[in-house]
Amino acid sequence: MAKVAFIGLGNMGGPMAANLVKAGHQVTVFDLVEAAMDAVVAQGAGKAASALEALAGADTVITMLPAGKHVAGLYLGEEGLIAKAADGTLFMDCSTIDAETARRVGEAAAARGLQMIDAPVSGGVKAAQAGTLAFMCGGSADGFARGKLVLEGMGKNIFHAGDHGAGQIAKICNNMLLAVHMVGTAEALQLGANNGLDPKVLSEIMLNSSGKNWSLENYNPYPDVMPTAPASNDYKPGFMVQLMLKDLGLAMENSLATQSSVPMGALARSLYASFSSKGNAQRDFSSILEMFQS
Ligand code: NAD
Repeated sequence: MAKVAFIGLGNMGGPMAANLVKAGHQVTVFDLVEAAMDAVVAQGAGKAASALEALAGADTVITMLPAGKHVAGLYLGEEGLIAKAADGTLFMDCSTIDAETARRVGEAAAARGLQMIDAPVSGGVKAAQAGTLAFMCGGSADGFARGKLVLEGMGKNIFHAGDHGAGQIAKICNNMLLAVHMVGTAEALQLGANNGLDPKVLSEIMLNSSGKNWSLENYNPYPDVMPTAPASNDYKPGFMVQLMLKDLGLAMENSLATQSSVPMGALARSLYASFSSKGNAQRDFSSILEMFQS
């Protein structure tokens, strides 16, 4: 059993922390929003009045925050988690942030002799609730081995991608590819529909042909082809357009920094930016199909 300080209890962090309680860990939580803490405290977690108070007595710290600036703000500096943690503390940041910040924070922890892994997740709120998230981790092999024992309380498929920041790189590569095949799947289905094909029949044909891909197989963007997909439920998320846009933004920033050519990702980001600005930010990302309907 680990003594876990869990900081950041939003849509994802709340259910993740609750699953750690269920897995038998001793969990103390902190969030800037009182109500977010109360929901997890009701499931058996302890409540702290600040991030530093949560840190006291913890051997493992998990953060699930919006963006890189929140992570840097919490971990770095004289009053930050890294400076104040006890020797031997393991840090795991599960937020999706830029790899540069993940490396900077990971290296600051290492400079103090502490283990840190970046451990962004794949799978949305449902997977967080069900305890079936995938984790893509960056950091030392030892840190990963130690962290995995705790991450197992929140998910399956826990990968070690490499050194500090590698988890964040794996995450942006995956989500950029997801955006590209979702857009491609949507335009292909709409092209077929514009020619009078039944999207169900066309989906079945492509699922058994070389166009088969994850979006088509698990998340069909055309309404009423797949009853369980957001497309058949008024594009209720699921995974929101604004979150896909955030991840594509991180991929583009990284492509500039590494001088990588990512024409398909750049086009997907541009399409999602335009679509988001037209009132679609909080709809499921498969609603991009509507861009191809006139
Ligand atoms: P969210 O906005 O619902 O939650 C973030 C929480 O962090 C909030 O409750 C906020 O009050 C808290 N917070 C911010 N700064 C804080 C601080 N200094 N101290 C304590 N608490 C602080 O976001 P979310 O949907 O839970 O996502 C969290 C992360 O997971 C993001 O990086 C997101 O990109 C990533 N992610 C989200 C999903 C999803 O489907 N929601 C899926 C995969 C990854």
